[in-house]
Amino acid sequence: MAAEQKKPTSQLRFDLVSKDWVLIATGRAKRPEEFAKHERIKVEMAAKDCPFCNLATQGKPVLEYKDEAGQWEVAVIPNKYPAFAQSGGLNERAEGPYSIMDGVGYHEVVVTRDHKKSLAELEMPQIHKVIDAYQERYLELMNEKLVNYISIFHNHGREAGASIAHPHSQIIAMPLTDPDLQGSINGSRIFFENQGKCVHCKMIEWDMEDGRRIIYENDKFVVLAPFASRMAFEIRIYPKEHHAYFERIKEGDKNQLAEALKISLSKMAKGLNDPAYNFFLHTAPADGKNYDHYHWHFEILPKTAIWAGFEMGTGIEISTVEPEEAAKYLREIQ
Ligand SMILES: [Zn+2]
Ligand SMILES: [Zn+2]
Repeated sequence: MAAEQKKPTSQLRFDLVSKDWVLIATGRAKRPEEFAKHERIKVEMAAKDCPFCNLATQGKPVLEYKDEAGQWEVAVIPNKYPAFAQSGGLNERAEGPYSIMDGVGYHEVVVTRDHKKSLAELEMPQIHKVIDAYQERYLELMNEKLVNYISIFHNHGREAGASIAHPHSQIIAMPLTDPDLQGSINGSRIFFENQGKCVHCKMIEWDMEDGRRIIYENDKFVVLAPFASRMAFEIRIYPKEHHAYFERIKEGDKNQLAEALKISLSKMAKGLNDPAYNFFLHTAPADGKNYDHYHWHFEILPKTAIWAGFEMGTGIEISTVEPEEAAKYLREIQ
């Protein structure tokens, strides 16, 4: 008697870049539509009490883009409660077996004018300006002393860590490369040395051919659900061509990036009932070394799961939707 083929309850998938395993466990899962049923904690803050609506109280902007009426539309201001700040030097020292250095760097906030409109709801030209602001500040900060890495990220919703409801992104320029990016960089380098090809190019090529994990594409960018998604509905935006350095993005490509970003965020907002999310940029460090093997991209992580004991203890993240299902669901949302 032939042994009955049992459908596996879960699948471990290997991330080519980070070398982490993720668990796709659809057994306990909900169908994609069910993710839309959650209720988000809404933080209400009247515009009159909002620090970003009252920009003048926040000190002089380091950058401002104005609309036709001469009003600021996108502004970059120093963070009032910086995680990294300017000071004399790193002041590296030991305390017994421990090492300490000062948190030297820059921490800025990129604010869009409308108090309520999320990035997904903004018009294309405004999103374009947000990308302009990311790039302009990047180019400025990368030349500062002691800046080796610049992190650009955006938190949407209280559950994703946004303490002020008014939409804003953050830019942190710091002396070291964060461990998450370091893993991504090293993984990409090892793959390149072994295979003579960029791991991201390889994945994009395969996924575009395969089609099942593609959410959206235009001429220059592809939006996909990664094969080894760390959580349900994880999204990545990649330039189709191999580019290591975000800050060198061509003027003519920014419109297409704005479009890919808007469409990704809108599909998520519509399909998953405006979930809290984080997105961030992964790009080559700004420490003057060569990172030609790297391929910059944006990662968007909706808060569809919280880390519990298993994830904390093992580092293995559990996604309860197959990336192919997630992509199909988001692809069809108009
Ligand atoms: Zn506001
Ligand atoms: Zn590449």
